[in-house]
Amino acid sequence: MTDAISFLGSPTQRTAAALVSRSFAYDADVLPVSYDGSFITVAVALESVELLDRIRALTRKEVRTLVLPVREIREGLKTLYPAIAVRDADSQAAQTLDEIFASAIGNYASDVHVEPVDGRAGRVRLDVDGVLQHDRSLEGGLFERVVSLIKVRSNMNTGESRVPQDGRLTVTFDGRSFEVRTSTIPVGGMEKVVLRFLQRFDLVPDLEALGMGAELLARYQRALRRPGSFCVIAGPTGSGKSTTSYASLQTIDLDRANVCSVEDPIECRIPGVAQIAVNEKAGITFPVALRALLRQNPQQLFIGELRDPETVAIALQASLTGISLVTTLHARDALRVAARLAELGANRSTLASSLTLAVSQRLIRMLCRRCKIKTNASSQALAVARRYGFALGADAWDAHGCEACGFSGFQGRVGAFEVLDIKPELAAAIERGDTPTQLGKIAYGVGYKPMIVDALRHVASGATSEGEILRHLSYDDAE
Ligand SMILES: [Zn+2]
Repeated sequence: MTDAISFLGSPTQRTAAALVSRSFAYDADVLPVSYDGSFITVAVALESVELLDRIRALTRKEVRTLVLPVREIREGLKTLYPAIAVRDADSQAAQTLDEIFASAIGNYASDVHVEPVDGRAGRVRLDVDGVLQHDRSLEGGLFERVVSLIKVRSNMNTGESRVPQDGRLTVTFDGRSFEVRTSTIPVGGMEKVVLRFLQRFDLVPDLEALGMGAELLARYQRALRRPGSFCVIAGPTGSGKSTTSYASLQTIDLDRANVCSVEDPIECRIPGVAQIAVNEKAGITFPVALRALLRQNPQQLFIGELRDPETVAIALQASLTGISLVTTLHARDALRVAARLAELGANRSTLASSLTLAVSQRLIRMLCRRCKIKTNASSQALAVARRYGFALGADAWDAHGCEACGFSGFQGRVGAFEVLDIKPELAAAIERGDTPTQLGKIAYGVGYKPMIVDALRHVASGATSEGEILRHLSYDDAE
């Protein structure tokens, strides 16, 4: 018995096995042994540069090898991929689902899309830093069984496939638990399933770590601490609004204040905050939950999202009585927050007197440090930088791609922000019903900088590329 074999079945070996496809392992006589977060260790019968390259390309990890007799490798494989010997279709689906989760967690995916493609077959794609990547194809029977298994684990009605459903499940992987929100929609006689990994408290970063510049951060924190403040975090889906709101909640002294929240869904539990989950089926809507919370005299309230007139009305009322509010809103940028709230029925003069600050943000992919390449900043970028008075040399960086970043050229994300303080001039404009463009003209005069400027700061520091920020934002906003 060698050391390699004694690893069999350990969590670290299962992680390694999830990185190497079963068919490759068998074809090439490669036995995954362990994975430590940066190196994958595999046992091989014969070391060759070509084989190492193939493993590196497949796993996108640095590789260490041990040499073992081929007989031991094959025996190890038989134990390691037990589902091969198991004919039972359900266990094949369970094994596949485990592999999908392992791959999603290993790749830091935020969402997993399990969707039909031509007829009965399906595919799995992972959302990594906002970009969908092909993970694997599923043949017809297996696709249906995997979808059905997800529905069973999410407590959905498995007999129903013609209406959208949503649910939740918990994945345990290497001793860690992940909460996953699941949803199905009918697509051409089949079902598409999206699994979203919800954040856990220990993953919520500090406000400082989100990428907000020192000046914006100071202004935002000042507003958060003001009693009776009303701060709105705006952005499209996937712009990181929830993370920023959870990070904001953590800056409050939770031991002394009565802090409550209404959320749909609760994406992470924060000790010290009374969190209520919206449950439409049980009659717990945003307005119902808010009214109940307000009877308990909270000092600080987090409302997951302002999306209907009734919730907006209650939020404004609460703010007028001196309760501090943090909430998110589906709006393109900070200048559009007042207009969007007015569309949702907010009284303009109430809004003008209660709104303290609007923040907006985007999540920008960061360049892989190992492979980024020099390029020239565009003349537009240089002009904007000059106008806003910060240093952007003619040198900038661009994405290239290497094994470490899965050949995408990017690794991780950072926030680009804008903060709009509702100063008296702006409050007057909101009360008058000025358009976002008119509001913008006044805002530039009182120190507002559009998000593209903050994003260019990340270009200037070499954290990202111009191409990446232009996927989200436009130089037109800096006029
Ligand atoms: Zn790279």
